[in-house]
Amino acid sequence: HAATNLLDVRALTVAYGAVTACSHVSLTVAPGEFVALLGANGAGKSTVLRAVSGLVRTGAGRVAFGGADITRAAPSRRSAAGLAHVPEGRRIFPDLTVEENLTLGAFAHRRDRSGVRRGLADVYDLFPRLAERRAQSAAVLSGGEAQALAVARALMSRPRLLMLDEPTLGLDPRRVVEVFGYLARLRRERGLGILLVEQQTRVALAHADRGYVLNRGRLALHGSAHELARDDRWSAVYLGRG
Ligand code: ATP
Repeated sequence: HAATNLLDVRALTVAYGAVTACSHVSLTVAPGEFVALLGANGAGKSTVLRAVSGLVRTGAGRVAFGGADITRAAPSRRSAAGLAHVPEGRRIFPDLTVEENLTLGAFAHRRDRSGVRRGLADVYDLFPRLAERRAQSAAVLSGGEAQALAVARALMSRPRLLMLDEPTLGLDPRRVVEVFGYLARLRRERGLGILLVEQQTRVALAHADRGYVLNRGRLALHGSAHELARDDRWSAVYLGRG
C-alpha cells in the first residue's frame, strides 16, 4: 500500500543539538485522509511537521511525498510538489492587506496570473469574510479570521496535503467549530489530505479518520480516530501534560 500514500514518514529522528525532539516516528497520510497528530506539549509534534516541510534537518529516517523521496529536498521544492504547512502562530504579515497575504501564498505560480486570480476567487468563495476584507490590513483581522487567512494563503500554493499546527489555539469554541467545518469541507470537496497537530484532542478525533499520539518524541499509540477516542491508555499518555 506504500505507493498509495500521499505522505509516508519512516523512522524519523530529529534533534536540536543535544535534544532529541522525535525518535523513530513513522506515519502515513493517504490522499484525502484526515490524520490527527496528538500529544502533550513538547512531545515533538511540531518537529514532525517541520521535518516534513524541510524546515529542520532530518537526523535519520525517510520522508516520501507522492511516492518521491523528499528527505533532503529544499522546502520550496516540497511546496511546489504540493505540501503546505500552516505553522503555529499563523505568521501572517500584518503590514500587508488580506489579498497581498494571499498572493504571497501563490509565489511559486506568480507568473500564472489567471491561475492566481482563480485561486483568489476560490479561497474567497471558501472564506467570504476574507473577501469582504480583501483590501484591509491583515492587522485588523480577528483571531478566527487570521487563522482562516493563514489556511487560505496555504491553499494558494495548490497543495495536495495541508499540514496545520494547532489552528484552534486561542480561538473561542464557536470559531473552533468553524475551523473543523472548513477542514472537513476541504477534504470532502477537494480531496485534500490533512495532517493536523492539535491540543483539542476530543474535537480532533471527532473529525479525523486516524490519529497518532506522540509521547516524549516517540509514537505511543496510533489507530482509527474512533478507537483512539475510546482507548484508556490514551489518558495515561496525557497525564504527562504539565
Ligand atoms: P508544542 O505543542 O509545545 O509545540 P510539540 O509537541 O510540538 O510541542 P516540539 O515543538 O516539536 O513539540 O518540541 C519537541 C522537543 O524539542 C521539546 O523538548 C522542545 O523543547 C524541543 N525543541 C523544539 N524546538 C527547538 C529548538 N528550535 N531548539 C531546541 N529545542 C527545541
